[in-house]
Amino acid sequence: MGKEVDGIDYLEGLVYQAGIQCTNIDHFLEFLRPHFDGVPFDRDSVMARIDEIIRTADRKDPKWYCVVKDLENIRRNAKENVLHPIDAVKSRFNTFVEIIRREFPGFQPPDLKIVDSFPKPYDKMDWIAMAPDQEDQEKYGIEPGIYIKKTVITPIYAEYILAHELTHKIVEMYDTHGFGFGIEEGIAELYAMYLLTRVYSPKTAANVVILDKKYGKRKRLSALYEFFTVLAYTQIYLPSGMDGIRAAIRLGRKGLKDLDTAILKGERTDFPSGNWDKKLEKAMRRYMATPNDLYVTAKTRYVADKAEVGDTIEMIAKKTGLSEDEIHEAISELTRLTLITVKDGKVTAKAEHILPYLRYHLDIK
Ligand SMILES: [Zn+2]
Repeated sequence: MGKEVDGIDYLEGLVYQAGIQCTNIDHFLEFLRPHFDGVPFDRDSVMARIDEIIRTADRKDPKWYCVVKDLENIRRNAKENVLHPIDAVKSRFNTFVEIIRREFPGFQPPDLKIVDSFPKPYDKMDWIAMAPDQEDQEKYGIEPGIYIKKTVITPIYAEYILAHELTHKIVEMYDTHGFGFGIEEGIAELYAMYLLTRVYSPKTAANVVILDKKYGKRKRLSALYEFFTVLAYTQIYLPSGMDGIRAAIRLGRKGLKDLDTAILKGERTDFPSGNWDKKLEKAMRRYMATPNDLYVTAKTRYVADKAEVGDTIEMIAKKTGLSEDEIHEAISELTRLTLITVKDGKVTAKAEHILPYLRYHLDIK
């Protein structure tokens, strides 16, 4: 019946709660997967394994140095229990629908279908969810609803995808003309974040979107989603609050396309205003304050922590256990980003206050 979940799935839920400095959550989990062999979907077991890794990992290996720092952060900050992803999706579906019906009277919830594979011709797609509409029914005979694929369902992330798809369904309640892109995606992201902050902390909600959108595998598409999310936030939400966002949703798909045209020309939008939401704002601030390009390799990240003002290349090599060539390479990556300055072979300054936000890329190959 349910998906077989294990310790690595549980860890994913913890990652969203605490955040990680690794740019890519899939790489992070892949890197750790062999070490979670046989660990069940259970908080105590997962935490015990995390402790064991922290205790035994070789911290002179740059990748382990970075991963262990993230695990320590998870150990300190991931305080909530992680729900079984299928149970969570089912129960969040009810919670979200209840909120939506209050805000959009007359909303008819779609069927939630948790499936082994998507109906043809979408069976090859690597999506976690899809929301076929009337057109798919006419063309392919697919029943409308929200489909979530059981085999790839993951904690918290699946709930965010569900909230996003539900937002498209609200838009379709007013108008189903064509398919939605542009500002409709931005509004779906924003409203999904709003729904997520009803059941999780703003930090968790922001972490989900950060890890999905800032460094995800579909970089350019994600960047566009992010662009439209920030547009929806700054052009509709900030002046008009949730009342404005809800009014935009009520424009329906066709109305949102007209809104795209206006907004992309830089024109002012005009919506009824009211109901600004503190939790959404907290999540959005965190999201917008996360730079997309402040990351380096794990090796450079390690060197960034270890290199002190006054150190020579030779000294850094000695304390890190890396070769001088490797230190040269790391230092030049850091100087390119102006995180460190070097003169006559010596570190002369370090951007200490920025370094806590410097992420690392974990190339697992
Ligand atoms: Zn969408």
